[in-house]
Amino acid sequence: MSKTEKHEFQAEIAQLLEIVIHSLYTEKEIFVRELISNAADANEKLQFLQQTAGTDIFEADRALSIQISTDDTAKTITVVDTGIGMTQSELVENLGTIAHSGSKAFLEQIKQSKGDARLIGQFGVGFYAAFMVADSVTVYTRSYQSDAQGYVWTSDGKTGYEIAPADDLERGTKIVLHLRDTEFASAYRIEEVIKKYSNFVSFPIELNGKPVNTIQPLWTKNRSEISDEDYTEFYKYIGHDVDSPLYRLHFNADAPLSIKAILFVPERNTELLTMNRQEGEVHLYCKRVLITAKAKGLFPEWLRFLKGVVDSEDLPLNISRETMQDSALLRKINEVLTKRVLKWLEEESKDTDKYAKFFAQHGHCLKEGVATDWSHKEAIAKLLRFKSSHTEGEATTSLSDYISRMPEGHKDIYFLHAPDREAAEASPDFEAFRAKGWEVIFLEDPRDEFVLEHLHSFEGKTLVPAAKAEITIDRPEDRTRSLSDAQVEGLVGFLKETFGERVSEVRASQRLVGSPASVREADGAMNASMRRMMKMMGKDDSLGLTPKPEFELNPDHGIMAGLEALRHSDEALAKQVAGQLLDNAMVSAGMIEDPRVVFGRLNLLLEKLLPAKP
Ligand code: ADP
Ligand code: MG
Repeated sequence: MSKTEKHEFQAEIAQLLEIVIHSLYTEKEIFVRELISNAADANEKLQFLQQTAGTDIFEADRALSIQISTDDTAKTITVVDTGIGMTQSELVENLGTIAHSGSKAFLEQIKQSKGDARLIGQFGVGFYAAFMVADSVTVYTRSYQSDAQGYVWTSDGKTGYEIAPADDLERGTKIVLHLRDTEFASAYRIEEVIKKYSNFVSFPIELNGKPVNTIQPLWTKNRSEISDEDYTEFYKYIGHDVDSPLYRLHFNADAPLSIKAILFVPERNTELLTMNRQEGEVHLYCKRVLITAKAKGLFPEWLRFLKGVVDSEDLPLNISRETMQDSALLRKINEVLTKRVLKWLEEESKDTDKYAKFFAQHGHCLKEGVATDWSHKEAIAKLLRFKSSHTEGEATTSLSDYISRMPEGHKDIYFLHAPDREAAEASPDFEAFRAKGWEVIFLEDPRDEFVLEHLHSFEGKTLVPAAKAEITIDRPEDRTRSLSDAQVEGLVGFLKETFGERVSEVRASQRLVGSPASVREADGAMNASMRRMMKMMGKDDSLGLTPKPEFELNPDHGIMAGLEALRHSDEALAKQVAGQLLDNAMVSAGMIEDPRVVFGRLNLLLEKLLPAKP
């Protein structure tokens, strides 16, 4: 055998190794990812040569694979590829020097991030991660070139390395790590690490002879080659779900960024069951190797129900969990993805029955988006669905469809909060709308009111609470029981005096049909939806921000005619009746939360009405 050559590491590498061995204690497991990535790169390069006509390849028929074996008695782990291999000068160049500024940049970075080993591969120095776990590394390699000589490279990762010729090597590279402890000599542990980072590497990986990466990286294939079952299997694997997904999207983008993504919407939203906020489950890959699982910042929070993978070759070298959030590039990816997802959901919404299922599960996330994501709120609002006075039962409408039904003269989008459809239809605030045939969105959840108020307008139409609508109805033909203008004026004065501080205003209504009276929110520091939200969050109105309501009387209602007469004959009783009418209106408007408080007066009135003796 020919002589062994001794080499010294380039100064930067020696410094790098010093840090790798002594101060990088976190996530040592990533050395597995780095060695597998190198093996996959070597195989890929060979694959490329195979497609280049006229290239003479040693052992041309040898299959491209990655073999890993562990030996816990010898405390070794071995990684073998059948790729391009290295010549002697390539060995020196690739594993002894760093041509680019990678190591320097990496040194800077790890000083800042206090030794985040995950970054190592991103700086083109991944091979040296082996020394985090090994006190000596041996590399056997034989180049693909037909007349090449094989070599063995050995180093303890301290000062230098030795290179000697080695005969009878097969094409490719075999790397043997002599481990410091047995953790990574355990096949079970290694399998776990491979599955975590390298499961989608495009060559078969075998661990002690057993295939490990059985799931295909579907996002790198053509859509036409993938069956529904493939997608479902892939979803179940990456989404940790037993059900099939409700929707899926497989898309590629080249500009402004190269992105390949497969995204899924799960059938169920676990937040509805657990009340815990979900974590987004979209994993970020760069060329099929995991960069960050459940990558934060990839999507806005309100899309946290999505599961899937995003693979971008454009990721910068220094992307990591810590730096991700402020990366301008990540914001760009986020923007591209968000737009695409909005478009996707809009397409899916055409199948209304299926979309209803989607909205029942994930709709609350979209509503949160409208309330929190200023730049997308109108686009998200397109995806919202509501019950309305024009829908039946559980059926819903979009705001766009609502607008398409607006008759002449109907300018705003109206909404009304009530616990259910019956209560909404019985509300005095709805009467004028019913009379005119104008549609009103019915909101059962107080949060929805908050969302629509926050949205403020949609497709140029202002969103207005029904209780605040400037709406007038045509007076009924039969005005026999109606009061004269003078009588209305007198009654208004009487009620003002009677109610005193309880109301801010009393006036004759233009919008009531069946109800004798109603109260409306006066504009004030806090409106009804905010009050209801505060209440839901367990906060009461201790600051006294609730404005006093405005009282409206229906001059065409028999009760008002009767009250006008009564106030002249029995003023005390008229005051009690008036007080009761105010209470009733407040309960109906949801301003008195506990209706029991109004029963006292009602009972007094009943007592007066009924004969004194049996
Ligand atoms: P990077 O992979 O980012 O270039 P590494 O430190 O991981 O940085 O590897 C350095 C170089 O060593 C690679 O670019 C490659 O040329 C060479 N190399 C490493 N492992 C192998 C291998 N298994 N087969 C062939 N070449 C390899
Ligand atoms: Mg590498």
